[in-house]
Amino acid sequence: MHIKSIKELELGAGDRVFIRCDFNVPLDEYGNITDDRRIRAALPTIRYCLDNDCKVVLASHLGRPKGYDPKYSLKPVAKRLHTLLKQEIIMAQDVVGEDAKSKAKKLQEGGVLLLENLRFEAGETKNDPEFAKELSQFGEFYINDAFGVSHRAHASVEAITRFYDKNHKAAGFLLLKEIKYLYKLLENPTRPFLAIVGGSKVSGKLGALINLLPKVDKMIIGGGMAFTFLKALGEEVGKSLVEDELIDEAKNILDEAAKLGVKLYLPVDFVVAPELSEDAPVKFVTFKEIPKDWMGLDIGLASTRLFREALNDVQTILWNGPMGVFEIDKFARGSIKLANYVAESYATKIIGGGDTASLISKAGVDDEMTFISTGGGASLELLEGKELPGIKALMVEDGQ
Ligand code: AMP
Repeated sequence: MHIKSIKELELGAGDRVFIRCDFNVPLDEYGNITDDRRIRAALPTIRYCLDNDCKVVLASHLGRPKGYDPKYSLKPVAKRLHTLLKQEIIMAQDVVGEDAKSKAKKLQEGGVLLLENLRFEAGETKNDPEFAKELSQFGEFYINDAFGVSHRAHASVEAITRFYDKNHKAAGFLLLKEIKYLYKLLENPTRPFLAIVGGSKVSGKLGALINLLPKVDKMIIGGGMAFTFLKALGEEVGKSLVEDELIDEAKNILDEAAKLGVKLYLPVDFVVAPELSEDAPVKFVTFKEIPKDWMGLDIGLASTRLFREALNDVQTILWNGPMGVFEIDKFARGSIKLANYVAESYATKIIGGGDTASLISKAGVDDEMTFISTGGGASLELLEGKELPGIKALMVEDGQ
């Protein structure tokens, strides 16, 4: 089985192509886009269709509106697409309503129509086949280029694919790139392979930890989740984030790592504070000296140096989850230092989306990374070894 590429479709002049994009970009309080990476990442597929003189209909969700809400309109996305593509973007006032339909009908070769936020329609998240059928009327070809939602069985991702045969549906370039890096990484990494796993809780990353452990040569565990592991080793962690119910699970992971010969690293020092706040005083302590009423909110200098040593000889690095509360500058230094060390490495460097991607941006080392995933939740599910419904729906037998 393999996933069909957009290049294998016979797209021609005047063909109508429906592209599910992921334009779920962050907006500030004035509705300005603060990071357009996801829009830029979708351009190769859109341009490919335009170069083939297709009529292009774009669809995406933005945020989590429950029904119509102008705050979540895709109008700012249309504006940014216009700037990036340097051509008119026709904006529909609705998703599958009269306005969208009549604008789609009038669409010229090389024209681009953007539908309103898919989540203005309840059928989207319900994977409603009726709504999916209506969406499918916008194109005789269906392209999924929205990796960030491919782990969701939503109408524009899963149900819609039932209305196309194998010659009329495929993955766009961004989705293909995500699959290439993340799947191949898990199947056949160049060794030594190091996974850096961080973030807030063990519970959020447990599936990924278990799936990754037999595949990696080394693993670094940082962020809030490190404290459950330290507690499992009998250390005192003060008020740091700990999931007591997962201490046994943490012990199992430590035992399993030892059995498999995986070199597992935990932080050896921390930046601690009495509370999670910008104004809190901080101390730098080793893992043996976390004060009783303080909590670890970042890894310390000794940990970043230790992790740099562990990075030295690796050929592949996968990073998912920050080492501390990087949203607050005081607790961002450990993650940023590590990001710089990762940037310096000659290894293939794959960054899971979401928080880790924001962290890499904050560190200013985006360009040093081999690949930064656009999907936080989706990349995590892939790392957990789960099958993503949006990708499964586009699989065809080899030779087809
Ligand atoms: P996740 O969504 O599980 O990847 O977690 C990301 C979040 O983990 C970020 O928002 C960080 O602020 C948070 N985080 C990282 N380190 C810690 C820590 N030591 N204590 C509490 N939260 C943390």
